[in-house]
Amino acid sequence: MTNKVKVSNLGYPRIGKNREWKKTLEAYWQGKINEEQFRSEMAAIQLQHLKTQQEAGIELIPVNDFTFYDHVLDTAVMFGIVPPRYTYDGGDIGLDLYFAMARGNAEATACEMTKWFNTNYHYIVPEIGTQTPRLTENKPLAAYRFAKSQAGIEGKPVLLGLYTFLKLSKGYAAADIAKIAARFVPVYVQLLQELKQEGVSWVQIDEPAIVTGISKEELTLLNSIYTEIAGSVPGLNIILQTYFEAAEPLEALLELPVQGLGLDFVHDGGANLASIERLGWPKDKWLGAGIIDGRNIWRSDLDAKLQLVEKLSVHVPLDRLILQPSCSLLHVPVTVQGEVKLKATVKNALAFADEKLAELSLLGAALADKGEASKAALAASREAIAAFRALPERGRKDVAEQVLALAALPDQRSLPFAERLKVQQEKWQLPLLPTTTIGSFPQTVEVRQARLKWRKGVWNQERYDGFVREQIADAITFQEKLGLDVLVHGEFERTDMVEFFGEKLDGYLFTSNGWVQSYGSRCVKPPVIYADVAFIQPMTVKESVYAQSLTKLPVKGMLTGPVTILNWSFVRDDLSREEVANQIALALRHEVKALEDAGIEMIQVDEPAIREGLPLKAEDREHYLNWAVKSFRVATNHVKATTQIHTHMCYSEFNDMIDSISAMDADVISIETSRSHGELIISFEEQAYDKGIGLGVYDIHSPRVPAVEEMTANIDRALRVLDPEQFWINPDCGLKTRGWQETEDALRNMVRAAAIAREKS
Ligand code: GLN
Ligand code: ZN
Repeated sequence: MTNKVKVSNLGYPRIGKNREWKKTLEAYWQGKINEEQFRSEMAAIQLQHLKTQQEAGIELIPVNDFTFYDHVLDTAVMFGIVPPRYTYDGGDIGLDLYFAMARGNAEATACEMTKWFNTNYHYIVPEIGTQTPRLTENKPLAAYRFAKSQAGIEGKPVLLGLYTFLKLSKGYAAADIAKIAARFVPVYVQLLQELKQEGVSWVQIDEPAIVTGISKEELTLLNSIYTEIAGSVPGLNIILQTYFEAAEPLEALLELPVQGLGLDFVHDGGANLASIERLGWPKDKWLGAGIIDGRNIWRSDLDAKLQLVEKLSVHVPLDRLILQPSCSLLHVPVTVQGEVKLKATVKNALAFADEKLAELSLLGAALADKGEASKAALAASREAIAAFRALPERGRKDVAEQVLALAALPDQRSLPFAERLKVQQEKWQLPLLPTTTIGSFPQTVEVRQARLKWRKGVWNQERYDGFVREQIADAITFQEKLGLDVLVHGEFERTDMVEFFGEKLDGYLFTSNGWVQSYGSRCVKPPVIYADVAFIQPMTVKESVYAQSLTKLPVKGMLTGPVTILNWSFVRDDLSREEVANQIALALRHEVKALEDAGIEMIQVDEPAIREGLPLKAEDREHYLNWAVKSFRVATNHVKATTQIHTHMCYSEFNDMIDSISAMDADVISIETSRSHGELIISFEEQAYDKGIGLGVYDIHSPRVPAVEEMTANIDRALRVLDPEQFWINPDCGLKTRGWQETEDALRNMVRAAAIAREKS
């Protein structure tokens, strides 16, 4: 027996070094390449990814992690789970149907898309119906054969486990899960038997749903699923893979009849190691040790990782240990190589997918040679980390002092809401059911081109500012003509609501090529918080003040909130998220003050992403919500009682967090409602929400112009449970993706609907 650990990967980013995957997909959708070209370009990308991992020294290389869109959709399609609204004869599922499920077609709407656990990746939600599942194709087998024939790689097929697949699906009653699972088990068995016959020796079955908390009944179900599945393929090594949190209760999971268990030792709060130290590790099991962070972009402290391995090896012999990232590398960009614009100390501190694989490989080598041959590489890594840690902008005294001083700041507004309301009504003299919008107006080609010209230096600052001012002036005239009550400047100067602020705050950096997949071909390039975040100078005052100078009506100042800025950035990992949120909140507190001092006394601080940071484990949620809400208050609670703070939220369900929303203590909130209008109204009523509220009266995600009656119906429904004194009338999100004409038509109808509602009230 060798005394050597194995080095493994759980999944490689699909998008390619230069987003060639995305470009190929979009070229195919636009008809620029045919199916044959599409398949051959995709095969080339897939092969490149395999070779990169091979060259990095990865022994267990995942296959079937590659996809044309999404791995959950792949799983549904592989089992023939096609919703009945699509024409499907039960045969092979070709690309047309596959992409129709992902994106919709003329015949049927797309399947729902939702967030993959607590990441910013979105998967396609399978719709389980009455179909009998069957294996339409063995995709993992095809991927295994591809790797073997093209690169001589003995791949490790990765599949989505049945338990998680069902947990992520809809279309069945929760109580029926065991019955539904029984229908799928034979198909999984068939799939695995075919893999075994082909000579596959390792299979990774992903069951991340386990970490969200598992009941006794669910454990029984899991046990029966794996008893049947694993029992039917003796000799095949199955690693049940968990990630994103601690796998609990570990004692029960260790009893599952599989050969290995994969655990996340980065995002588990130390619980996985503690469980192993308490329980020991069964002699006959492999441990997939997720020790390199698959969610962040930072170089790892390899000395700390070696210490962790040492602790694990007390219980698990090295030849039963597999070193791997904490989760699939899907969530990080491909390689740091292209980041030529960053200063060396910072660039050296980064590790994207390829660099993380190199770290794993280095750790494997260091364990094998007891640190001899790998000495130099370990030392280089140590130095890179030390140099990064020592950067003065990461340890600013002034910022630390301000964060410390937070505790002494007042925790609440100067007056409670009921009293503020009176002085605000007095000051603002708004009509009943005031109308407003969420902030952005259409980002036309002209606007985007102007910004590009300015960024490239073709336009100087003055010219660009002049252009933005013209846009603002037009927007103000536009809103006045429509008869809106509370105006916005239109956000023409902003690309993205987080990037815009990141560029103006200390502590941020921007990568050239740090793209990650968000959904389908859509990629995002999150800004990076690498140092202490701090206010430099006013970021939004100029535009807001200009807009306000053009009208007697109130114009809302418009900021992005601390939690959203945090949740949509890559964040340094040497401070807690709470601490970084507080730094951002303090910077925004300056901005809010600057706005108020400049006479902007209605200020909206958007928090669309507040729910996205919610921990997976129920018991951790309260702590998160507490600090998230607190950071919002830090940013906003120092204003005068007459200053009206607004906030806006979208993208998710908020029914179960109304208490927290209320604790943010914004005077007015607007919420996206297209997903759950009725339900949301009821929850606000049941929980006696007393502050101003605008439940979007129309869905801005579609170019369709809603009729007056439609919006009147939405308003009436809301007013059945909410006080008209409390209700605001607005669309349900910003209008930046819409065209001007449809915006004008929709808002005109909205203002009419408001007038009708006022007459009735
Ligand atoms: N104020 C932003 C806008 O109107 C809000 C965007 C959002 O909710 N995501 O675009
Ligand atoms: Zn929104």
